[in-house]
Amino acid sequence: MADFKTHIATSTVCGIAVGALGYFHFQYDWGTAALGAGLTAIGGMLPDLDSDSGIPVRELFGLAGVFVPLLLIHRLQGYQLTPEQLLVILGGAYLVVRYCVAELFKRITVHRGMYHSVPAMLIAGLAVFLMHKPDQVIGGAELQKRLFLAMGVMIGFLSHLILDEIYAVDLMGGVPTLNQFAGSALKLKSDSYLATGMTYAILIGLGYLAWLSVGSPTFEQTYVQTITPFKK
Ligand SMILES: [Zn+2]
Repeated sequence: MADFKTHIATSTVCGIAVGALGYFHFQYDWGTAALGAGLTAIGGMLPDLDSDSGIPVRELFGLAGVFVPLLLIHRLQGYQLTPEQLLVILGGAYLVVRYCVAELFKRITVHRGMYHSVPAMLIAGLAVFLMHKPDQVIGGAELQKRLFLAMGVMIGFLSHLILDEIYAVDLMGGVPTLNQFAGSALKLKSDSYLATGMTYAILIGLGYLAWLSVGSPTFEQTYVQTITPFKK
């Protein structure tokens, strides 16, 4: 399988392409274009969050610890927090991702398990789609921006899965043969029913939330509108 450097180099190249597409084709400002590029580059590292050891994983959780709070800023701005409260929440989010989530991952994931799969790629895209809420204006432009960023992270993720598949082909003596990892990256399910079931449950849950959030003023309002009928 491909090593960390190959993955990051490939997804960075994809990221530059995504950023250029955003800047020149969609005419986004440099901030949105660069965010799309960065998310694409990071997407290429995400599947290896499940490997238990090594600097790459620590690095990834460090990055995730920074990026998750940053993506949450727009959402949090709606709550009229003081700058100090915002800092405490962002700092807390960093610690939770960097240490708690990292530890949890170590315990529950198997390397090259469901993290290297097509549904996991969709989950990454949906997570970005839900986390980033660019502005209060509702309409096609906002939706397009969110889709752009979500596509970015999925393109990066996909580049990783494809690379892992390519590296599963041994070119021994010019005759391509498949090693034991062949077909294990671009998969739809794993041998573990629990892991597969959980992955699809998360995918369906996030998909539902994304569906609710489209065309509504804010996710929070949508949520309230959704649960209110049940309260009566
Ligand atoms: Zn991998």
